[in-house]
Amino acid sequence: MAFKEECGIFGIFGHSEAANLTYLGLYALQHRGQEAVGIATSDGVRLQVHKALGHVADAFDETTINRLGGMSAIGHVRYSTAGDSGIKNAQPILIDCAHGEIAIAHNGNLVNAQELRDRLVSEGSIFQTTSDTEVLLHLYARSKAATAEAALVESVSQAQGAFSLVLLTKDRLIAVRDPHGFRPLTLGKLGDAYIVCSETCALDLIDAEWIRDIEPGEVFIVGPEGEQSLHPFAAAPKAHCIFEHVYFSRPDSFVFGLSVNEVRTQLGRLLAREQPADADVVVPIPDSGVCAATGYAEAAGLPMRMGLIRNHYVGRTFIEPHQSIRHFGVRVKLNPVRSILNGRRVVLVDDSIVRGTTSRKIVRMIRAAGASEVHMRISCPPTISPCFYGVDTPKRAELIAATHSLEEIRKFIGADSLGYLSLEGLLSSVGPSRSSYCTSCYTGKYPVAFPQNEAAYLQLALKLVE
Ligand code: SF4
Repeated sequence: MAFKEECGIFGIFGHSEAANLTYLGLYALQHRGQEAVGIATSDGVRLQVHKALGHVADAFDETTINRLGGMSAIGHVRYSTAGDSGIKNAQPILIDCAHGEIAIAHNGNLVNAQELRDRLVSEGSIFQTTSDTEVLLHLYARSKAATAEAALVESVSQAQGAFSLVLLTKDRLIAVRDPHGFRPLTLGKLGDAYIVCSETCALDLIDAEWIRDIEPGEVFIVGPEGEQSLHPFAAAPKAHCIFEHVYFSRPDSFVFGLSVNEVRTQLGRLLAREQPADADVVVPIPDSGVCAATGYAEAAGLPMRMGLIRNHYVGRTFIEPHQSIRHFGVRVKLNPVRSILNGRRVVLVDDSIVRGTTSRKIVRMIRAAGASEVHMRISCPPTISPCFYGVDTPKRAELIAATHSLEEIRKFIGADSLGYLSLEGLLSSVGPSRSSYCTSCYTGKYPVAFPQNEAAYLQLALKLVE
């Protein structure tokens, strides 16, 4: 529960309610980013865009949606992993250049964004944002290629790292996925309309049919001539982000061809086998620990109970009382259920421990509610390395598992026992496709080299719930 999400993207081509359906698609993808939201539409001649800070429901009303006319649209929900979180970095970013108007929405992080940006600036480019996505637009605008598609391929070929992109021109919707396939991107249809989006839960909400995933390294274009699929990049080993299954994606989505719910529940089953506990009840840390706790309880033959209740309506800030309230920061979001916890030996299931400070507060709160023992179980291996591919992790020194032993972490969080799922367990939960996954945050082995100056690079990532 400690990591913040990254970004969610959505695009639709050939529907009279393009803006409205994009709004709904973003609604379904809200869990992937809550800081800013935007929709760009095309009426076949011109593009327009509306962006705002905050949640989808607050950023758009009927008037705004109606103003965004046209048969095609792209949208973005943002949690800033690169660049500042202000409105100027909200997406889609819309530009007009020699190749015509184009809007872009990006999920992922480019590991060579700074390098490309420095080069572009030295050659005279002026940037409007601090987002790495704008780099792609500058490369696109400067391309001398004859067509917009060729210019896009030329510019994207220079990017390294993680990118799932949707782009909109006046008469085309384009989807691009990096050759490693770090971030998900999937294709669906609603009648004759094409849809691309981060997760299948966005297709479900608008009653669209899932067709297939956009493949790693694929450029998918749909326009007046129909659809076209290109594979212009050199092939690369696949590196799907396994943390999408552990935490990011919604459990009702299919991601990388697998049901997130099934993978996550299996993580819990394997965790129970690897890390059993003498206990009375399994309690998830909601919402992220629920599927794994279900699997744990099933495999351990223990009841699962909602011993912590999450308040879903907590805003970004709240006014704290002057008089101190114990565990207030955590309690405002999670409240223990004494009738479930009192006198019981509790297995507490979560998806990760980042700095350890939130876990420590929750364990204390559970004990204060009467639990006789607290056994913390984590449905993935210890997080020992930061992510450079679009996920919001702190730098290595701040990751408790990078600098502390298992026993030290247990002591710090105050649990009676602590157990993580093994890397082998994690990989076995995704079945035969296990070699197609990135696990760098658990292994420190990176499939795409990142800049050597980690400190400078990590301006990109660093907000945590903890
Ligand atoms: S480092 Fe971790 S969070 Fe980042 S892409 Fe790889 S598996 Fe996902």
